[in-house]
Amino acid sequence: MESIQAVKGMNDILPDQIGWWHFVEITTRKVFESFGYREMRTPALEKLELFARSIGESTDIVEKEMYTIADSKGEWLALRPEATASMVRAFIQHNLQADPLARKFYTIGPMFRHERPQKGRYRQFHQIDAEAFGVDDPMLDAEVMYMLRSLLQKLGLTQVALHINTLGCTECRPVFRERLTRFLEQSANRLCPDCQRRRHANPLRTFDCKVDRCQAALVEAPLLLESVCEHCALHFGQVKGYLDDLGAPYVVDPRMVRGLDYYMRTTFEIITDRLGAQNAVGGGGRYDGLVRDLGGPDVPGIGFAIGMERLILLLQQGQPSPVRTPPVFIAVLGDTARHRGFLLSQELRDLGLEVEMDYEGRSLKSQLRRADKLGSRHVLILGEDEIQRNEAQLRDMREKTQTLLPLSEAAAELRKVATVPV
Ligand code: AMP
Repeated sequence: MESIQAVKGMNDILPDQIGWWHFVEITTRKVFESFGYREMRTPALEKLELFARSIGESTDIVEKEMYTIADSKGEWLALRPEATASMVRAFIQHNLQADPLARKFYTIGPMFRHERPQKGRYRQFHQIDAEAFGVDDPMLDAEVMYMLRSLLQKLGLTQVALHINTLGCTECRPVFRERLTRFLEQSANRLCPDCQRRRHANPLRTFDCKVDRCQAALVEAPLLLESVCEHCALHFGQVKGYLDDLGAPYVVDPRMVRGLDYYMRTTFEIITDRLGAQNAVGGGGRYDGLVRDLGGPDVPGIGFAIGMERLILLLQQGQPSPVRTPPVFIAVLGDTARHRGFLLSQELRDLGLEVEMDYEGRSLKSQLRRADKLGSRHVLILGEDEIQRNEAQLRDMREKTQTLLPLSEAAAELRKVATVPV
């Protein structure tokens, strides 16, 4: 019978890869929690309207990339394409604003976008997401970016650049938008069909178009950074100042617009030149009107998301795979030894050791071969004679030495010599 394959663009993460994921997740938790962020987990499925209202009707994500389903009552639902909208919904729904501890959140989990799969771009991918509510001071913008940078540094990723821009506010962006639309009208015949459409629906997105002739047409385009209001310019200047004070380098990138409509003022991306076309590792920004627009209190917010697959692709280029301490192996010969080994393995696991043993009655040679394949350094050999005398042999596979010890001391001795990572 033909076997069933995974859905295109959705990947299994196999045990030989999982060490990377654990490394990233553990490091993320440590770094984010040191900045006062607390974990929140939201459902993968949400009401479609949540994303349409937050990300924006005329964005690529909402227009063409969402997995949607109608439930039995005819209500439209969608697999989340990103986490911010869900985090904001949960913040509002549970009135977390009233909780003095709950202002900064993070989540780690799968997101879904129906994009054309290629290296670094998948239909199910994973994001690390952080959101902070309630502070509009530029100091928080700098802190958020600094936290992102700290995470990348703790992961050992230094070959990435922080790009920043400002997208203005509800005062200055609409004015700029009109100016840009007028410019795009004049260059309309040089734009690709997508940008022809975008020039009315979402003109800023034309900056993100990958088509060469659009990029060429935009060389002369007005830039938002040069047209923002005094308040936004001051905010951006202060953000840069705080980043300087923190010693965090950045590149001002006036053409960076981000693909989601809810951003305002500070936006940022982590860019790499090591992943081919998929050069964004993470990105985020300020979204001060979003909580209110989704029916909540008028509180500001700022956040970012990092793509874990891209992060791990980068990590794999530079570092050896995270090592896992191999298990202790119990080799058993004969039924009595097998039974004794079975009990002893549970005792050792209770002590926190990882233990493997053979249940299949294989020869000592083949058991040792298996221990070797597993990378086990310590093998406890329970032979028939030793068991009679309540003894065991502890073999050090690296040193190729063997010590006889009383069985009653085996657990304590193994705990001493073999440890498992947390
Ligand atoms: P965005 O929410 O579009 O700003 O994306 C934030 C980050 O998520 C990006 O910088 C990527 O690292 C990652 N990402 C977005 N879309 C995908 C995808 N289809 N496959 C893999 N990673 C993605």
